[in-house]
Amino acid sequence: MMNHLAQILCAFVFASIFYPSVQASANTFTAKPVRSGDTLISILAKNGFSMRDREVVLRSSAGLRTLFLTLDTQYLVRREKGETELRVFDSQTSAAFKILKNADKVSAVSYRPDYKITLQRIEGRIYGSVLGSVLSKVNSNFVASRFTDAYAFDLKSGKHLKRGARYWFNVQKKYESGHFIKYGEILQTSLEVDGQDLRKRFVRNNDGGVFFNADDLLEKRPLYAPVNYIKIASAFQPNRVHPITGRRQPHLGVDFELPAGEPVLAARKGVVVRYGNNHAAGNYIVLQHSNGMETAYDHLYKIDRKIHQGLRVNAGEKIAEVGCTGYCTRAHLHFAVKKKGRMVDPLFYIKSYPYHMEEQLEARVAQN
Ligand SMILES: [Zn+2]
Repeated sequence: MMNHLAQILCAFVFASIFYPSVQASANTFTAKPVRSGDTLISILAKNGFSMRDREVVLRSSAGLRTLFLTLDTQYLVRREKGETELRVFDSQTSAAFKILKNADKVSAVSYRPDYKITLQRIEGRIYGSVLGSVLSKVNSNFVASRFTDAYAFDLKSGKHLKRGARYWFNVQKKYESGHFIKYGEILQTSLEVDGQDLRKRFVRNNDGGVFFNADDLLEKRPLYAPVNYIKIASAFQPNRVHPITGRRQPHLGVDFELPAGEPVLAARKGVVVRYGNNHAAGNYIVLQHSNGMETAYDHLYKIDRKIHQGLRVNAGEKIAEVGCTGYCTRAHLHFAVKKKGRMVDPLFYIKSYPYHMEEQLEARVAQN
C-alpha cells in the first residue's frame, strides 16, 4: 500500500516538474482516441455535425479530404457555449485542422500545431518477428514499423537475430493542449544483432532523414537510396501469393511510402533508357548504370521536364516526384533493381541514405 502511494506521488511530482505548461492548458479540450473504422466523416457525425455541416467542412479545406487517421493517434474536442471545436491531425504528415461549428457558421482551416514533445524509451526482447515484438510493447504500427525500417538493411546483409535479442529505442510523443496526439520520429535505436548492440541515430536533413550507424558508410553497396526518408511499406517478395485470389503475384521491388510530391532521386549516375506511362506502373522512369544495373521508379506523380531518352543524370539528382499513378492506393515509390537481366531485392544493393547525405554523415562520423 505504502509503496503504491509513493509511486503515485512520484509520478505526480515528475509530471508537474516536467510538464508544467502542458498541465496548465489542459482544461478546455478533451482528447478522443481514433477508433477502428473512424473516418473524418464519422468523427464529425459523432460530434454533432449534420450532413450539411460535413459538406461545408470538406469544402473548406482541400487537405481534409486526404486526412489519414490511424489508431495510435487522438483528436481534440472542445464544447462550450453552443460552440464545438475539433482539432484533427494527419497521422503521416504535419497537416492539422481546426474545425469549428457555432450558431452562425461551420468552418475548417489548416493550422500548425505548437506541439510539446517528450521522449519515451521503449525496451524489450525480440521473440518471433521484430515488428510483432515491438508492437506488443507499443500499440502503434507506425512506431513498430519505423523501428523495423531502421534495421531493414542490416537484416538483409546476413546478420542474424537470436531469440530474445534485446532492443530499445527513444521515440517522440507529441502533445497539444496537454493531450497526447501522436508519435513522432524514433531518434535513437539499439538492437542486439549477432551478439552486438547495433545502435542507430536518426539524422535529419532538410527533406527528411535516415537511420544511421557509422558502419553504414563502409558498406559496399553500389546504389544510393532513391528517397530522403526511408519508410518501407512493402518488401521484395518474388513468391508473394495474393491473400484472396490465391494467385501468384510477385512484388519485384521495394515500396517506399512517402507523401506525394517528395523528390525521387537517381540511385546512381546513369542514363535514362525508358520513361513514360503505363497501366500498372503509372508514370515511370528506368535508368541504366555503367555497372550493368538498371533501376526503375514507378507510380510517379510528376516526371521532371528535363527527362528524355538518353539524358545523363548524376547520382542523387532529382528526376521526379513521388505519386500514386498506375496500380496504387497510397502515395509511394516502387523502386526496382535489375542486375544481369534479373530482378533483385533492392535492399541488398542500396545504401540506407541518399547520395547528398554522404558528406554530412561522413562529417558526423569524423566528429565523434
Ligand atoms: Zn511496389
